[in-house]
Amino acid sequence: MSPSRPHIVWFRDDLRLSDNPALTRAASSEAPIVALYLLDEETRRPLGGAARWWLAGSLRALEKDLRKRGIPLVLRRGPAMEHLVDLATSLKAQAVFWNRRAGADSEADEDKSLVGALKNRGIDSAHFQANVLFSTNDLRTNSGAAYRVFTPFWRAACRLSPERPLPIPKAMSGWEGEISGDILDAWCLRPTAPDWAGGIAEAWTPGEEDAQRRLQVFLGHPVLDYAEGRDFPAEAVTSRLSPSLRFGEISPRQIWHSVKAAQSSGDIPDRAGEKFLAELGWREFCHQLLAAHPALAVRNFNSDFDHFPWAENEVALARWQEGRTGYPVVDAGMRELWATGWMHNRVRMITASFLTKHLLIDWRAGEKWFWDTLVDADPANNPAGWQWVAGCGADAAPYFRIFNPVLQGEKFDPDGAYTRHWVPELALLDKRWLHHPWDAPEAALKSAKITLGQTYPSPLVDHSKARKRALASYEEMKRAR
Ligand code: FAD
Repeated sequence: MSPSRPHIVWFRDDLRLSDNPALTRAASSEAPIVALYLLDEETRRPLGGAARWWLAGSLRALEKDLRKRGIPLVLRRGPAMEHLVDLATSLKAQAVFWNRRAGADSEADEDKSLVGALKNRGIDSAHFQANVLFSTNDLRTNSGAAYRVFTPFWRAACRLSPERPLPIPKAMSGWEGEISGDILDAWCLRPTAPDWAGGIAEAWTPGEEDAQRRLQVFLGHPVLDYAEGRDFPAEAVTSRLSPSLRFGEISPRQIWHSVKAAQSSGDIPDRAGEKFLAELGWREFCHQLLAAHPALAVRNFNSDFDHFPWAENEVALARWQEGRTGYPVVDAGMRELWATGWMHNRVRMITASFLTKHLLIDWRAGEKWFWDTLVDADPANNPAGWQWVAGCGADAAPYFRIFNPVLQGEKFDPDGAYTRHWVPELALLDKRWLHHPWDAPEAALKSAKITLGQTYPSPLVDHSKARKRALASYEEMKRAR
């Protein structure tokens, strides 16, 4: 085979050079390498605004890392069946390599069709597992089905050991010929007029290098407080690796083995490491759910909920989106999301529960908002998280456990540091009233410079009434199924 015929590496949700089996395979011979990224908004769910912002930064970082090694990153827009096959044919490629995505939209079928189309043109191909710890085929119940309950899933997973991560290939050479492709800026992934992403840019640096840095920072100390502190949004003890995992700037295998190494060297106690790995386990669980249920973002996992009497309420939806529900911890979460493209997990649960149970708004409306505003908006974790909270998901919390946003605020933000930061108009309010300002005496509100209904909204709904209404709707659904 002529060494001048290139290998193409098709980057997808794996925007990294290390632990990238497709790249390692491409570099295993002397063939020059061409890297390709396709922005496919025709056959895939288009990314939301915040994720597009992240993608722009991540591609920029990848392009730079590849360029240092002489490898061009070609950008094209459209489905792989057209553009990947076209590029491979026009370059007379020897082979094309890519890493599989667990997931929706018949990924596996598409992979199969691509392999066939390339083969018909005399081009080899291979695809690899890189973005999850375990192949879904390795994790099946005794009856051969996908798991529907997390605990047995994770118990079975922990009996396996994920493969060791691969280093960045040492020797790689890039293709030197001319190739036509798009310019990243022409994709307009980042907003300009207006540029609403200032807060996101302040909070994050996309790219493989920063993902590795965040992992090291996390393992340096926050992980020690993770088991106890992970539910408290004011304590920055979670890893903030979610957008990097979403876009594959870091692999779950790299995280797993780094944690295990820190445990064996005694740098972190077992309990802290295991609790964190179990959260990575939830990511695995969501990904295997999506593989088994590709319509996870649109169809109730529990079809009884097809009969749920959701309310149409555009005004309430808008107030939730804007962080003006009158429930301080809910508003804090929604504003954190809008400002930074991220929200703490505990607060994701509180805000999602408020939308679906207090406002009775269909979880799909919330999922869509998160999809548009989260930098880590993930095709598996997002719908699975929403369905879990709404009560219709796999291994979901029982419907009747309805979060009380006041008690949640008092329990998980007891000093109010998180809420005061994101809802500054309540900053001066005594912590006794912070999570239920409507109960505060006039004098307390006055000295905190608050006029309810003016400087801060009155509550959109009354908790007890909303709870009763939600439970009645659930009973109505049960009668209708
Ligand atoms: P850490 O606590 O440090 O956890 C490490 C990693 O484990 C995370 O980066 C993530 O990949 C994974 N993980 C942690 N918790 C969960 C979980 N509950 N479910 C699945 N994976 C988890 N996560 C996303 O990555 N993208 C989403 O779009 C998303 N949408 C969500 C929507 C709702 C309604 C809810 C309740 C949760 C959602 N999550 C989502 C899960 C979780 O909130 C985030 O993964 C987590 O807050 C990210 O912060 P971190 O990286 O600091 O997490």
